[in-house]
Amino acid sequence: MICRFAPSPNGFLHLGHAYSALMNARLARRHGGTLLLRIEDIDRARSKPQFEQAIREDLAWLGLDWPRPERRQSEFFAAYRAALDQLVARGLAYPCFCTRGAIAAHFADKTGTPRDPDGSPLYPGLCRALSPRQRAERIAAGETFALRLDMARALAAVPTPPRWREFFEGETPHAMTGRPELWGDVVIGRRDTPASYHLACVHDDAAQGITDVVRGADLAPATALHALLQRLLNYPTPDYRHHRLVLDSDGGKLAKSKGSTTLRELRAAGLTRAGLLALLNERMGGDFADPRSFPAQK
Ligand code: GLU
Repeated sequence: MICRFAPSPNGFLHLGHAYSALMNARLARRHGGTLLLRIEDIDRARSKPQFEQAIREDLAWLGLDWPRPERRQSEFFAAYRAALDQLVARGLAYPCFCTRGAIAAHFADKTGTPRDPDGSPLYPGLCRALSPRQRAERIAAGETFALRLDMARALAAVPTPPRWREFFEGETPHAMTGRPELWGDVVIGRRDTPASYHLACVHDDAAQGITDVVRGADLAPATALHALLQRLLNYPTPDYRHHRLVLDSDGGKLAKSKGSTTLRELRAAGLTRAGLLALLNERMGGDFADPRSFPAQK
């Protein structure tokens, strides 16, 4: 079993990250497997070295250990580009020159805007019908573009709807069949950042031989899309284990953007590792033990 904890270094880790990292570590330990740390830093504007360093420090404080060097996604842009090129060459992805404003304007005179599971407007396909020549001319003219998956073609290219096994927080597999069409023609790459989270994530899960993806339930809706990309790119589909989210005291989702209490703030306020485990166990009804008591990784 190979698991990964895959934070983005665009802020400090909070309680929810600690829960996710500990869920990963505990699963790997129970199965005699390995936990990898992957730094998901494709967003060059928001990723900062000090956050990356803080991730390592916070995880070490939690009592976790992982093989080094860690995979940093920013070092693999060429690999993501090759995967995207392959999808474009097969007619499964296309360049889209629409700005957010153009997409909003398209829906302005309609009743309501259909949205994908992340809440972004479903792309109405404005650039889908451009000819190869129009595309080449606009790219040559230096227009900014994103690469979008052609969802209808992508679905037609796979023999059956994407399926995977979901364990949630337990040990019972549930057979899942996804509806990736809910994502529409989703962005899978950009000119300046040659990958989206979705593409880089499935690429790296395959490249690192990840067998079990343990992550928050907020990413569960993306799994249908990930399973589709795995089929298209001939990558294996790991098992998924989406866990509950640790909520704020007001019942909302913890988020870096909301300034939810970070592990460093809790630590500075005197919380010990044992205290943190007790806090998570109390809030989540869990039974985490000190990870330092986990056997050494293989
Ligand atoms: N990098 C993502 C995040 O920080 C996690 C991706 C994943 O686990 O698939 O939310």
